[in-house]
Amino acid sequence: MPIIVQKYGGTSVGDTERIKNVAERIVAAQDAGDQVVAVVSAMGDSTDALLKMAQEISDDPPERELDMLLSTGERVSVALLAMAIDELGHSAISLSGNQAGIQTNTVHTKARITGVETGRLIEELESGKIVLVAGFQGVSPEEDVTTLGRGGSDTTAVALAAALGAKECEIYTDVDGVYTADPGIVPGARRLAAASYGEMLEMAATGAEVLMLRSVEYAQKYGVPLHVRSSFTGDPGTWVREEDEKMEKAVVSAVTHTNDESKLTLLRVPDRPGVAATVFGALAKADVNVDTIIQNVSEQGTTDISFTVNQSDLPEVQKALQVIAGDLGVAFLIDDDMGKVSIVGAGMKSYPGVAAKMFRTLADAGINIEMISTSSIKISCVIKRAKVEEAVRALHKAFNLGT
Ligand code: ASP
Ligand code: MG
Repeated sequence: MPIIVQKYGGTSVGDTERIKNVAERIVAAQDAGDQVVAVVSAMGDSTDALLKMAQEISDDPPERELDMLLSTGERVSVALLAMAIDELGHSAISLSGNQAGIQTNTVHTKARITGVETGRLIEELESGKIVLVAGFQGVSPEEDVTTLGRGGSDTTAVALAAALGAKECEIYTDVDGVYTADPGIVPGARRLAAASYGEMLEMAATGAEVLMLRSVEYAQKYGVPLHVRSSFTGDPGTWVREEDEKMEKAVVSAVTHTNDESKLTLLRVPDRPGVAATVFGALAKADVNVDTIIQNVSEQGTTDISFTVNQSDLPEVQKALQVIAGDLGVAFLIDDDMGKVSIVGAGMKSYPGVAAKMFRTLADAGINIEMISTSSIKISCVIKRAKVEEAVRALHKAFNLGT
């Protein structure tokens, strides 16, 4: 029998009524002839509520204990869901990440899955049970509970689909797919019928929040087809899969954005080999993810280096930069009011003029571009946060992405 993996997000299991609704969907999938593994997130905002309690006790709670705490949210929903399925006269079993064989490294609060031991899962499926797995968690080599980072249940689902050779992985959420832009900002935004892994990776990395970035990487690596759809309707959503001939290769498929960028500039650093390596080496050591980087032309033996980081990393970055700037005897500036707007499309590889059109559109809207970065299928511009929404609307219109 084919195996299908379904994942239900926090909103979809937000209260007991919704849990009953999800139970019916899962049962229907089994009745349709599939072996079903369902991964669930914690109910509603319960992960945030758990985090808040931890923060009321400590500014810096031990990460092992945070994982122990946060993993409980998913256990609540998975157990209630098993009861709801039992009420429907079907047989289900709930499993923690550990029981489901999800093995991870020991990087608490953002662990990576290193393997899935499928023995128990297959046994339960073969005995006719629906298997319910608590998302977002696994077990470390030390046999401690780990969690996979916010949004990690997506990755649990994809990892299980890959390990079990599932025919597809359905991601049920509170939106009905992946959109050409945030519909909250662009009322005419359109649902995409399909996106390639490459496009979805770029979208997830530049602000589309519907899928966790890591889950898309995993899906691409193992060729797991993803179907992002709503748990409130029966409508098809967005397929994320290998780029193929039939897929329309739009020059631009979507406009994405972020509102939480900080820009830092080191002023007049000596222009000699090793300086950039020292600066970014120190930031890497502080576990900071650096995004866009630019280095200006050298004048009289010095140059300015600017880069962006996520706003939440600013305290660590400032600490690290104080040391580096001190060592180099230079000053640095912080612009804490930045955002980023990006266009993504598999077709832009073979299409000249896309960047020019983006820059022209922003210029016509009076929006100043502070930094630019590109990949073969993405162009990103760092701009002032206050201008982000206007930029998204202007680009969505300029590239005719609406209905
Ligand atoms: N409950 C976790 C979170 O809120 C994991 C997830 O929902 O995927 O981030
Ligand atoms: Mg999510």
